[in-house]
Amino acid sequence: MFLSQVTYIWIDGTSPTQTLRSKVKVIPLTQESYNPIDFPQWSFDGSSTYQATGHDSDLILQPVRIVDDPILGEGNYLALCEVLNPDGSPHISNKRTRLVQLMEHGGNVYQPWLGFEQEYTLFRGQQPLGWPDRGYPAPQGPFYCGVGADEVFGRHLVEEHAQACIDAGLMLYGTNAEVMPGQWEFQIGYRGIDSESADPVTVSDHLWLARWLLYRIGEEYDITAKLHPKPVKGDWNGAGKHTNFSTKAMRDPKTGMEAINQAIDALEKVHDKHIAVYGHDLELRLTGKHETAHMSEFIAGVGNRGASVRIPRPVATKGYGYIEDRRPGANANPYEVAAVLVETICGIHIKENVSVTD
Ligand code: ADP
Ligand code: MN
Ligand code: MN
Ligand code: MN
Repeated sequence: MFLSQVTYIWIDGTSPTQTLRSKVKVIPLTQESYNPIDFPQWSFDGSSTYQATGHDSDLILQPVRIVDDPILGEGNYLALCEVLNPDGSPHISNKRTRLVQLMEHGGNVYQPWLGFEQEYTLFRGQQPLGWPDRGYPAPQGPFYCGVGADEVFGRHLVEEHAQACIDAGLMLYGTNAEVMPGQWEFQIGYRGIDSESADPVTVSDHLWLARWLLYRIGEEYDITAKLHPKPVKGDWNGAGKHTNFSTKAMRDPKTGMEAINQAIDALEKVHDKHIAVYGHDLELRLTGKHETAHMSEFIAGVGNRGASVRIPRPVATKGYGYIEDRRPGANANPYEVAAVLVETICGIHIKENVSVTD
């Protein structure tokens, strides 16, 4: 019998931006098992996570995605969980259920693929990493994809995080240093490997797990990663979560450009509905400067990094592929971003909290 440490990870009820929680359960594992169904439900005190009141506080953790734990090592697992009410229904803070339902109620037919670009800012104490105690670093310019001790800060952590994502089996696509010093990005999602599925649920799960690993590895360095969309006011880039999206029709050379244009038309019509779930304090980032379009308007364009939605230049040249929604903030919940994209682009609509058997 092998005693496995399984870290149950869930998303809490903190407002306005939900955060991650986790606790460890020791489970005797007799088989090599990766299925969520093989791991027991567990409960937690929802009154300490802004998810319940004190007199009736037990909520249920339902494992939904199991990956290898790259930190505790072989035989140990990370179990991403949905939060359920005691009667088994999804808790109001659980945004994953709705995405699963959208996929099952028609979304899957369109075979959507996703790729998130998660930007974040490293902090030690109150200051972004590498910033002087007083005043500001040199103006932006040399830092994006930079190299050298005076230009990039925190690479050791970034490299360790990337390897941990790979070891866990997450669909890490790549990493880069960002425009503001101390700011970085990793991408999770479609990366051209046929054996893996870049469907919205899987990629969103992977992003939450990758975020957890980033915070966890940061503990070793006394560095915190922050997802605020505008961590430093002024002439500094904010932090986004560009979301790359394609359907089968968009990827097909015969129908690609037409499907891409249809998607953009559909997105334009419900701009505000998207903005509403693209993260708190988004207006501080979507100013029309620093590689963004202003929050009040919808702009689409080829190769345009000042657009709300960009068609990458290579996609326009080939005539098929994917689009990049540049609006989501770094702190947006990937389940909500993915869900509204599936709704709009695939034209899928379901009632709130429709039961799975409907
Ligand atoms: P940028 O040029 O905007 O910085 P990146 O190189 O950082 O772009 O990221 C590219 C993203 O596009 C990745 O997240 C990747 O998963 C995603 N991607 C690539 N091809 C597709 C596709 N066909 N459908 C959806 N996402 C895709
Ligand atoms: Mn990028
Ligand atoms: Mn970026
Ligand atoms: Mn991008």
